[in-house]
Amino acid sequence: MIAFLICLAMLLPFRAAARSDAAVPALQASVSDRTGPPDAPNLRPDPQAPRRKVLIIGIDGMRPDALLSVETPNLKGLIRAGAFASSATADSITRSGPGWASVLTGVWHDKHHVYDNVIGTFHGDAYPAFFKRLKESRPDLFTACIVNWAPIRDRLMSGIDLALAPGNDDSVASRASSLLLRGDPDVLFLHFDAPDHAGHKYGFSRFSPPYRHAVASVDRQVGKVMEALQARPGLYREDWLILVTTDHGGSFRHHGRDIRAHRRVFLIVSGNDSMRGTRLSGVSLVDVAPTAMAFLGVPVDPGWGWEGKAVGLKDLPPETMQAEGRRQAGDAQQDGNGPQAGDVIIPAAALPVKTPVGG
Ligand SMILES: [Zn+2]
Repeated sequence: MIAFLICLAMLLPFRAAARSDAAVPALQASVSDRTGPPDAPNLRPDPQAPRRKVLIIGIDGMRPDALLSVETPNLKGLIRAGAFASSATADSITRSGPGWASVLTGVWHDKHHVYDNVIGTFHGDAYPAFFKRLKESRPDLFTACIVNWAPIRDRLMSGIDLALAPGNDDSVASRASSLLLRGDPDVLFLHFDAPDHAGHKYGFSRFSPPYRHAVASVDRQVGKVMEALQARPGLYREDWLILVTTDHGGSFRHHGRDIRAHRRVFLIVSGNDSMRGTRLSGVSLVDVAPTAMAFLGVPVDPGWGWEGKAVGLKDLPPETMQAEGRRQAGDAQQDGNGPQAGDVIIPAAALPVKTPVGG
């Protein structure tokens, strides 16, 4: 029970812009209502164990150094409650189409064949978004995506139960909140776009005030979504894994090149079953789908040709972790080498525990 209370405490720091306190009494009430075990370390939990669910938050064009240097209390709360890769690797074609395709399919562009933002060459029959693979094993799971950038819904998704592109970040957050409060998604992918938009207009830099503003605005959207998640009536019977990542970095007003400033991305693996406080290295965008599948207890079929591995999770049998993801040319210089000159690094252990602050 103590461990469970700690887990609840980890969820509490999230704050949305206009916060109501309704979620907190609901969480407190759930403590005394709870009868099951606090954690479910086994892959095939009994029916009394919490139901595992996954929220993936994609933030377009978000540089890791901006995430860390801007006041982002909600994202930093997720970092504190999980494992964090501040120097993960994107697809070598650092555009949104190939980037999100790699996140969703678990393979690089030479397999998924997405080279640009038109996404007209997507090899989706052989390398579909992981939702399709998931539903083949677990048709009972309700899967959904709510995205700002419509081509993700229109070109990359298949075999998904609900796919929305409501037009802007505010609507993505509000539709996601509604779904979390009134629906019952098992796997939910969200996409926010503000940092990419600001980067193209004003520059992808942690020193650019408009870019910083966009990063902060997305953090508030994440806060709204997390507040809704915390207010779910059945939360005490659920076990959520929250993954947060981006598709590419950027420099000046551009991205698309195979350089560190464009290819360096981040990954947050957060929740009760994550390796809390761990700094991850050797992580890339193709690790997102295997991590979600491992958490849900669905084996990855070698025939799928996936190129990543599950990262940042604890209490999983070794066979669910692929030994080593295949690397693209040029990965070595940016893959898991930790901080480099000019990086802004805040170790997870040094992040504030009670009062969210930025820098
Ligand atoms: Zn993008």
